[in-house]
Amino acid sequence: MPPAGVVIPAGGTGSRMGGGLPKQFLPLKGIPILVRSCQAFLDLDCIRYVAVAVPAGQYQQASDLLQRYLSAWQSAKLRITTGGATRQESVAAGLCQLPPDIELVLVHDAARPLVDRELILRCLQSAEQHGAAIAAVPVRDTLKRVSASGGIEATVDRRALWQAQTPQAARRDLLEQALAKAGEQGLTGTDEASLLEAAGIAVSIAEGSRRNLKITYPEDLRAAALFLEERQDKMKIGHGFDAHRLVAGRKLILGGVQIDFDLGLAGHSDADVVTHALIDALLGALGEGDIGRHFPDSDPRYKGINSLLLLEQTMRLVRERGFAIGNADISILCQRPKLAPHITAMRANLARGCHTVPEEINIKATTTEQMGYTGRGEGIAAHAVVLLKGADDGYTG
Ligand code: MG
Repeated sequence: MPPAGVVIPAGGTGSRMGGGLPKQFLPLKGIPILVRSCQAFLDLDCIRYVAVAVPAGQYQQASDLLQRYLSAWQSAKLRITTGGATRQESVAAGLCQLPPDIELVLVHDAARPLVDRELILRCLQSAEQHGAAIAAVPVRDTLKRVSASGGIEATVDRRALWQAQTPQAARRDLLEQALAKAGEQGLTGTDEASLLEAAGIAVSIAEGSRRNLKITYPEDLRAAALFLEERQDKMKIGHGFDAHRLVAGRKLILGGVQIDFDLGLAGHSDADVVTHALIDALLGALGEGDIGRHFPDSDPRYKGINSLLLLEQTMRLVRERGFAIGNADISILCQRPKLAPHITAMRANLARGCHTVPEEINIKATTTEQMGYTGRGEGIAAHAVVLLKGADDGYTG
């Protein structure tokens, strides 16, 4: 897929929500709507940049908010700019923030925080194939055309009617062309597809989602909170095992902690057997094979690498799939040295790497009573079990 960028026009005032805050700044289960809308895209590998266009008067508030909630690697993809008076001026301003090598653009409403990975990918794939595609769902209610006096004039055939949502995706040149043409003709549209249509550009439908709510009324916030809770019901479990040989002349690193010992573990990376077992458990839960497939020991990039960095990359994959750590339980099989004094530091390292609290990462160490290769001190082994839960986005990176 060509490199993709996202423009989020965030100029809404939220008059229908009541209260003084623009609706995109309102919290949804503790995280501002705008932050959630951005995160859905920032988490995806295929999305290079997300440009948010806010009114000049909200620039500071928006950037403070986004900075507070986004992780460093999410922030690195974010551009904030001031938008125009209309949606299309804001979209144009956002587009200017995307580097020229971005060929596919998604435009997304700031007030649709529940957009998910599958929906984003469907829009991108369809736009790549057809030039332009928007998320939409079939109309399900019977529609009436009503006169100004309140009487029904006609029942509208709904069979060919769809409700447009966002994301709306298009090849960048097509979107730029449509915006320019709308500008020349003084045309305003409530979405990008209407501008593309007016410019004679064909737009396809990608299957939208009824959960992809646009937060407009206070009751939408309550429904959105329920949908987020549903996401947490998704669970996946994974197991990981690893063993490395103890040799002279290597550092002993376990759970990211360097431990004083006359031997260390042999391996291509830092040979942190504990972190490796945890990574394998995470990849196992995702159905993503194993550590060797993602970080091959034939790759010079991983020579001597701190395995906590590999954990970080693995967690980005977990995150991209919409999951977060529930808890992990790790057992280390080690005859010598004594590990008890180091367990607290290991838990802290791995919890940080997994974006959770140390209470959710249990680590225990056992000898094998001098039996087997660990018992003879030939090596150290580790098992890990993890439970992943659907992320409700309480995560801040
Ligand atoms: Mg290993």
